[in-house]
Amino acid sequence: MIPIAKPLLGDEEKGAVLAVLESGQLAQGPRVAEFEEAFARMCGASEAVAVSSGTAALIIALLAHGVGPGDEVITSPFSFIATANAILFAGARPVFVDVDPEDCNIDVGLIEEKITPRTRAIIPVHLYGQPCCMEEILRLAGCYNLAVIEDACQAHGASVNGRRAGSFGSGCFSFYATKNMTTGEGGMITTADGRIAEAARRLRDHGTTGRYQHEALGYNWRMTDIAAALGLAQLAKLEAFSERRRANAAYLSSRLRGVITPQEREGCRHVYHLYTVRVPDGRRDALLAHLRRQGVGANVYYPLPIHQQPLYRKLGFEDDLPVAQRLSREVLSLPVHPALSRQDLDRIVEAVNSFVE
Ligand SMILES: *Cc1c(COP(=O)(O)O)cnc(C)c1O
Repeated sequence: MIPIAKPLLGDEEKGAVLAVLESGQLAQGPRVAEFEEAFARMCGASEAVAVSSGTAALIIALLAHGVGPGDEVITSPFSFIATANAILFAGARPVFVDVDPEDCNIDVGLIEEKITPRTRAIIPVHLYGQPCCMEEILRLAGCYNLAVIEDACQAHGASVNGRRAGSFGSGCFSFYATKNMTTGEGGMITTADGRIAEAARRLRDHGTTGRYQHEALGYNWRMTDIAAALGLAQLAKLEAFSERRRANAAYLSSRLRGVITPQEREGCRHVYHLYTVRVPDGRRDALLAHLRRQGVGANVYYPLPIHQQPLYRKLGFEDDLPVAQRLSREVLSLPVHPALSRQDLDRIVEAVNSFVE
C-alpha cells in the first residue's frame, strides 16, 4: 500500500536526537530555544513559542489573546476537530462560516455577516497547505478589532504574495508525524507581538514568571529538547520537502482524468500537506474503494464537517453549511508526500484513471 503520509527521517534526525540523549538535558532547554528561533525566521515572525502539540498551540494562542467565556470565535467547519475544540477549551463559542468550494478554505465573503459584538477572533485554517485569503481577513479583523489566529497546522512554509503562513496573525503549527515536518508530537505558536509570546510562554509552563513564581493558571505543554532536535533537522529539509510535494502535485494534476484537481490560488504558495481532488456525482466512495484495492492509500479529509459531529450536535449547533457538507461527500486525498517515487506516482495516476475509464 502506498501510504497517504510518511515521515522522512535520516541520519541528521538520528544524530540530533542521539546527541540530546547523550547530553542528559532532555526536557525544554537549548534545543527548544534554537528551534523556536529558526522556526520564527522561516515564517518571518519575530517570535515563536514551542509547545507539545498543534492543539496546545491553538488553545494557548486563544488564551494569550484574552479569548474566554462569552466570546465568539469565527472559524471553518471544514477542518480537523482540534480547530473548533480549542475554542471550546478556551471557554468561547465557535461560529462556523461556510467554505469556498474552490479551495475548501473559509469563504471570506461570508465572514462579515457572522460578526457580532461578541466576536473576538477569527481562526482561518490553511487547509491542505493552501493559505486563506489573508488580505481580506486582515481587513475585516482591522475593521472590527478582531484577533487573527492562523491554524497553519497543515501549512508550514506556505505563503501569500511572498508572506508566510504564521506571519499574518498569531500562527499555530503542528509537528504531528503526518505533517509536512515532524517532531513526533509537537507544536509552535508564531507571533509578531512580544506580549502574546510572553503570555504563551507562561501558559505552556504553569504560569511561571520566575523560579517557582506563578502569576497565572497554566499548563504543562512544553516541548522536549529531544523533539526540538528532531524539529531542527526536519526544518533544515522543509524547503526541499515542500518543493517535492509541489512537484508531485504538478505531476498528478497534469495526468489525472475524471476528477477535479486542486488549484493553487493566484499569488499563493500551496505546500500540499494533502493533495485533495473532488469527485462529484456520488462516485467518491467507489473511487476510494477502488484505490484501496489497487494499493493506493487514499483517504477522506474530512468525512463529516465539525458542526455535524455528534459532540457539536449535542452542544446545540444546528448550522446548515451546504458547501462544507457537500465537500465532505466529494473530497478525496491522494498520496503526495516527498517519499513517493516516480513509480508510486504513476501507480496512483493509473489507479485513478482506470476507475474513470
Ligand atoms: C493536525 C491539526 C491540528 C492539531 O494538531 P495536533 O498536533 O495533532 O494537536 C489542528 N488543526 C489542523 C488543521 C490540523 O491538521
